[in-house]
Amino acid sequence: MNEYDSNRIYDLTSAIGFNKTDVKKKADCFVLNTCHIREKATEKVYDEIGRVKKNFRNLKKPLVIVTGCVAQAESQEMLEREPYIDMVIGPQSYHKIGDLILNYRRKKQKINETEFDVVKKFDELEKISNSQNKISSYLTIQEGCDKFCNFCVVPYTRGPEYSRRFKQIIDEASNLVNNGVREITLLGQNVNAYYFTENNKNYKLSSLIRELNNIKSLKRIRFTTSHPKDMTEDLINCYRDCEKLMPFLHLPIQSGSNKILKLMNRKHNREYYLSVIKKLKNVNKDIKISSDFIVGYPGETEQDFKDTIELVEQVGFVNSYSFIFSPRPGTPAATKKLNNLEESKTRLKKLQNILENFQHENNRKYLQQYCEVLIENKLDNQEKYFARTKYMTPVIFEANNCIPGELANVKILSFNKKNLFGIFKTNKTKVA
Ligand code: SF4
Repeated sequence: MNEYDSNRIYDLTSAIGFNKTDVKKKADCFVLNTCHIREKATEKVYDEIGRVKKNFRNLKKPLVIVTGCVAQAESQEMLEREPYIDMVIGPQSYHKIGDLILNYRRKKQKINETEFDVVKKFDELEKISNSQNKISSYLTIQEGCDKFCNFCVVPYTRGPEYSRRFKQIIDEASNLVNNGVREITLLGQNVNAYYFTENNKNYKLSSLIRELNNIKSLKRIRFTTSHPKDMTEDLINCYRDCEKLMPFLHLPIQSGSNKILKLMNRKHNREYYLSVIKKLKNVNKDIKISSDFIVGYPGETEQDFKDTIELVEQVGFVNSYSFIFSPRPGTPAATKKLNNLEESKTRLKKLQNILENFQHENNRKYLQQYCEVLIENKLDNQEKYFARTKYMTPVIFEANNCIPGELANVKILSFNKKNLFGIFKTNKTKVA
């Protein structure tokens, strides 16, 4: 979501005459768009500001703006702790950035703008068209979360669940496709909680997917991140009916132990999660699932961890993420007694080995097969292209003259843990 927000921040600042530069010392304004999910997020921001300060030691001080969830969480404290920062702007207020910069130039007063004005944000953003023109683009449809998992800061930094207007989203998607975008990933912290009502008509994520499926030049649709509780039948059926919806779903479970899921306040258990997977496979046998796992959550025993391993082996996840629990300030889990770190590290290693083996075996299946990819770009100074499979696996392939944005069949000749390597083929007889 920060990538989407950063692009929109660029659109808003370019409207008041700003341009991007790759030469850091030439910048007269730094916007640090921050994420609060990862460990030590706040300290990383101060480290980055320290680097900017060092670079500009003998130069005119640039305008320094911190946006995103760290700005929201730290707010006034940031301005007080680091005088080099001129403005903090929360993720629901960044639509004001142009006016705030102009105000700052006039008054030279520090600015703390961390209101939750999400409705206004999207109405304002609508006025400035999204300039994104990469082959694959994000599109935020929903923000915030009402689920309050005990380990997560999102409900506090992004606020309650809010869904954008249906037409606003479709218009933005059409605009992106006109810019050359061929794959859209619908975004939300709780994307499948999307729910919008207008003129007595209810719109859900499935309504959006079905509408996007009709946009002629759009080739692929994805969405992330989903909560298992919101995987409703209408959404599951999209995997049966919408050929542009990729058969790949990121569906975080976090733990395979019902005891830990309850301690996390996840609002689902493993049986429910497995029943969702079963329904998905019933409507589309090609579907593959990735997930997130937290290892060493407070109270996790060896048996709880074994439950996770057993679930992982049962589902056979691909492209998944796993981390050791680390407390986020202000969340209920932050006050709990931490597990033994060495034990958690050993568990994480074991889990990651299993996940990597699944990924490796999954990649091996492509060997000598033809695989459908969406070409994203040509690699610099090489007759090679970067693309992705339906399952997001990166593919690097050799070809003479390919067009980014086209679907192609590539014969896979080798692989490693993360990537597939191949050669362009026009033959479409067998697609993996
Ligand atoms: S559902 Fe996701 S975003 Fe919401 S609190 Fe839980 S982990 Fe955080």
